[in-house]
Amino acid sequence: MNDFPLRGHNTFGLDVRAARFLEYTSEEELEELIHTGQITEPYLHIGGGSNLLFTDECYPGTILHSCIRGISVTSEDDASICLRVGAGTVWDDFVRQCVENGWQGVENLSLIPGEVGAAAVQNIGAYGVEAKDVITAIETLDISGHRKTYPAEACGYAYRQSLFKRPEMKPTFITHVHFRLNKAPRFHLDYGALREALGGQAPTVALVREAVIRIRRSKLPDPKELGNAGSFFMNPIIPRARFEELKKEHPSIPHYDVDENLVKVPAGWLIEQCGWKGKSLGPAAVYSKQALVLVNAGEATGADIVHLARAVQASVREKFDINIQPEVLFV
Ligand SMILES: Cc1cc2nc3c(=O)[nH]c(=O)nc-3n(C[C@H](O)[C@H](O)[C@H](O)COP(=O)(O)OP(=O)(O)OC[C@H]3O[C@@H](n4cnc5c(N)ncnc54)[C@H](O)[C@@H]3O)c2cc1C
Repeated sequence: MNDFPLRGHNTFGLDVRAARFLEYTSEEELEELIHTGQITEPYLHIGGGSNLLFTDECYPGTILHSCIRGISVTSEDDASICLRVGAGTVWDDFVRQCVENGWQGVENLSLIPGEVGAAAVQNIGAYGVEAKDVITAIETLDISGHRKTYPAEACGYAYRQSLFKRPEMKPTFITHVHFRLNKAPRFHLDYGALREALGGQAPTVALVREAVIRIRRSKLPDPKELGNAGSFFMNPIIPRARFEELKKEHPSIPHYDVDENLVKVPAGWLIEQCGWKGKSLGPAAVYSKQALVLVNAGEATGADIVHLARAVQASVREKFDINIQPEVLFV
C-alpha cells in the first residue's frame, strides 16, 4: 500500500506516513517480495513500533511488517520445552500462553509491548530477566533471499544489544525465534518490587505475571492513552572511579555493579536530578511518574520529541558529565 498512515504502527502515536507499506504472512511471501523487487530503498522492518521514533512526517521508502504468527512445540522433556514462534506474534500474547501452560522463563517480561522478532533484536529485559536467557536460536531471511539460522551464542547478546542491531546486519529479517522454557520453575524475584508485590504468597508463573503487570501499570503510561516508547534512554555504564566521585557529591545515587570496573547508573535518576520529571517542552513531556519515559502529551511531532530528548541529554551532560544514549531508534 502506498502513502500508508503509520499512526497505529508507532506507540508515540505520531501522525506519520510511509511511501510504501508491505506485510507478509509466511517466509515464502517475504521471499516473493524480495525477488519481485517490491522492497524499494530505503526500507525498514518494524514490529509494533514501540521502540521507534519517526523524526519526519513521511518515511520515504518501504516499511515492512511481519504477520508470521503462532507458536509450535519443537521438542520437550521432563525439564523443559522448546518452542518456535513466528516473529510477528505479539510478545505479550506469547508470554500469556507460556504462563497459561505453566512454562517458566518469560513471566518477568510480561506486558512489554511489541512483537517476538523485535524482542530478539532488542534483547528486551525487565525485572532481572532478558530475552537472551530463554532464546536458543533465530531464523532469518536476508535481503538477497538467503535463509540462515543463528544459534543464540552467535547473536552477540548484551544489555539491549544484539548482532541484529549492528548496521551491517540491517537487511536481515527475523522470521522465527526459538525459545527453551522450564517446566520446573526457577523464579527471579530479587529485582524491583517484585517480591514485595507477591505479598508473601508462594510464587507461581501466573502470580509473578500478575505482579509484574500490576507494577508496570502503576509506573508506566499505556501507549493507547499517552504516546510513548517506554524507556527513552539506556542506563549509562560508567567507570567505577567516576562513580565513586559522583557518590561523594550525591551519596544517595542508585547503582548496579556491572563488574569490578564498571557501574550502571539509572538514567531516570540522573534525569530527575536535573529537574525534568513532569516538565514539558511544547507538546513533548517527561512523564510525571518516571523520568526515563518521554511522552507525546498532545499532537507532538517527531521533531518535538527529538528537541526534548536533546535538551534532557544536554542537562545530564552538564550536571553529571555523563552522555546518556537513546534506547529508542530514531528513524
Ligand atoms: C510502555 C512501554 C514499556 C516498555 N517496556 C520495556 C521493558 O520493560 N523492557 C524493554 O526491553 N523494552 C521495553 N519497551 C520497549 C519495546 O517494547 C521493546 O524494545 C520491543 O521489543 C519493541 O518491539 P516492537 O515490535 O514494537 O519493535 P519496533 O519498535 O517496531 O522495532 C524495534 C527494532 O526491531 C527491528 N525489528 C522489528 N521486527 C523485526 C523483524 N521481524 N526482523 C528484523 N528486525 C526487526 C526494527 O527494525 C527495530 O530496529 C517498552 C516500550 C513501551 C512503549
